[in-house]
Amino acid sequence: MTTATVVGSGPNGLAAAIRLAQAGVSVTVVEAADVVGGGARTSELTLPGVLHDDCSTAMPGAVASPFFRSLDLERHGLRWLHHDITVAHPLDSGTALVRRDLDRTAAGLGSDGGTWRRLFEPLAADADAVFDTVFRPVLSVPRHPVALARVGLRSAAPATLLARLFRTPTGAAAFGGIAAHLIGDLRAPLSSSVATMLTTALHAHGWPFPAGGAGSLTAALVAEFTELGGRIETGRRVKSVDELGTELVLLTVPPRAALALVPHVPVGVRRAWRRFRPGPGAYKLDLAVAGDVPWRDPDIGRAGVVHLGGTIAEIARAEADIVRGRMPERPFTLVTQPHVVDPSRSANGVNPLWVYAHVPNGWPGDETERVLGMLEEQAPGLRDRIVGMHVRGPAALEEHNAAYLGGDIGGGAVTVRQILARPRAGERGYASGVRGVYLAGASTSPAGGVHGMCGVNAAELALRDLGR
Ligand SMILES: Cc1cc2nc3c(=O)[nH]c(=O)nc-3n(C[C@H](O)[C@H](O)[C@H](O)COP(=O)(O)OP(=O)(O)OC[C@H]3O[C@@H](n4cnc5c(N)ncnc54)[C@H](O)[C@@H]3O)c2cc1C
Repeated sequence: MTTATVVGSGPNGLAAAIRLAQAGVSVTVVEAADVVGGGARTSELTLPGVLHDDCSTAMPGAVASPFFRSLDLERHGLRWLHHDITVAHPLDSGTALVRRDLDRTAAGLGSDGGTWRRLFEPLAADADAVFDTVFRPVLSVPRHPVALARVGLRSAAPATLLARLFRTPTGAAAFGGIAAHLIGDLRAPLSSSVATMLTTALHAHGWPFPAGGAGSLTAALVAEFTELGGRIETGRRVKSVDELGTELVLLTVPPRAALALVPHVPVGVRRAWRRFRPGPGAYKLDLAVAGDVPWRDPDIGRAGVVHLGGTIAEIARAEADIVRGRMPERPFTLVTQPHVVDPSRSANGVNPLWVYAHVPNGWPGDETERVLGMLEEQAPGLRDRIVGMHVRGPAALEEHNAAYLGGDIGGGAVTVRQILARPRAGERGYASGVRGVYLAGASTSPAGGVHGMCGVNAAELALRDLGR
C-alpha cells in the first residue's frame, strides 16, 4: 500500500489527505500545533463560551469548491448559515449592500445595478463551470473554455479600471471592497480576479459561515478523513521530509519554509521558490462585545461581512501603501459578525466580533487604536461595550501558524507573476523536483482561502506521478 504524509492540517492539508485516502493511499497528517485545522479553527480567545474564529470565518471558497461539494460534509454535521445581507460597505453618502440575491443587489445599487448584473450574472449562472475551471492550475488546459474566457475578460483589468464602469461611489465601493480581498495593488493587471471570483461565489452560493465557527468545517473534514482510515498526529513540527519515511510527502507550507524541509531541491525549483514573495500582513482584533454593535446604519447590523476603508480610490491608495511597506492612515479593514445568524457563538449576551486590517508584511506597530477608531466611526459607543479583546499583529500570526510569513495570510503575494506561477507555472507547479515531494498549500494554485483545491490538485498530481 502506498504511504503518504501530509504536513499541516489546514483546509488544503485535510483536502489533500482525503483525496489520497480516497485513492487507497495510507495517509498520516502531521500538524505542528496541538489542535487541528490550521487557518480553520475556532477558539475561546476572549471569554469562556464566546467562540472566535482564529483565522478564516466567511467561506465562499468552501461552498464553491468542487471537492468539498463532492464530499457531502453535511453528513458529518456541517451546516452553513447565511446572513440576509452578505456585505455592507459604509460610505459618507450611504451604505452599499451586496446580497446573495443578485436581483436585490442590483436594485439596491440603483443606476449601477445594470453594470453589476452585466459583470456577474453570466458567471453566477454558469458557476459550476467557472469554479471547475478557476480552481485548477493557471495555464493548464481549460475544461470550460467559454467560462474561462468570461472570467478572463473580467479579471484581466486592474480593479481600479474595472471600477470605472460604475457611475456611483456606492457601486464602485461595493466592487472595490470585494476586490480588496486580494490584499495587494488594485491598480495592477489581474487585480480584478479576486473580486470576479468572490462575487461569482457570492451570487451562486453565498458567503456563509459554518454553524459553530470555522472549526466545524475542520471537524467535518477530520470525520471524513478518519472514516477513510486516515491518521492525524498533532503537536509535531516536521523539521525535514527525511524524518517521515513515506513514499509521498505533501507540504502545506510556503515555498521558503519548504526549502528548509526538503534537502536537494533542484536548482531551477529552488530559484522559483526563493523568488516567491509573501504578501502584505494582517492585524487581527477579536473583540468580545456586550450586546449589539451600535452601528450607525442598522442595515450593517444584518450583514455577515462589513468593509471599512471608504471609496475605491481611498482603498486603492491604502492598499498601494501596504504593498510598499507603508502603514496607511486608514487601512482596509474587514469585520464579520457570525453571531447575527449563529447564537451558539455568543455567551451571556456577549458576542464575538472578528476584525482585521491590512498592514505591511512584518509590520511591528500597534494598530489597535487606529482600527478601533475606524470601527467607532461607524459604531459610536462600541468601545464602551468591549468586554474582552485578543490582538495579533503579523509576528503573532506567524507564531500562531508558521505558514503566515510576516503575517501574510494568503500564502504569498497575489501579483501577476504569482498568479501565473504559483510558485511555478502549469500543472506541475506543485512538484518539488524531488521524487514524491509536493507543495500543497495556499502558495500553490488556486491560492489562499478555504477551498482545499490547492491540496486536491497536488494530491492528484502525486497520484498521476505514481501512475494511478
Ligand atoms: C486572520 C485570517 C483571516 C482569514 N479569513 C479568511 C476567510 O474569512 N475566508 C477564507 O476563505 N480564508 C480566510 N483566510 C485564509 C485561510 O485561512 C487560508 O488561506 C487557509 O487556511 C490556507 O489553508 P492551508 O491548508 O494551505 O494552510 P493553513 O490553514 O495555514 O495550515 C497550515 C498548517 O501547517 C502547519 N505547519 C506549518 N509548518 C509545519 C511543520 N513544519 N510541521 C507540521 N505542521 C506545520 C501549521 O501549523 C498549520 O496548521 C484567513 C486567514 C487568516 C490568518
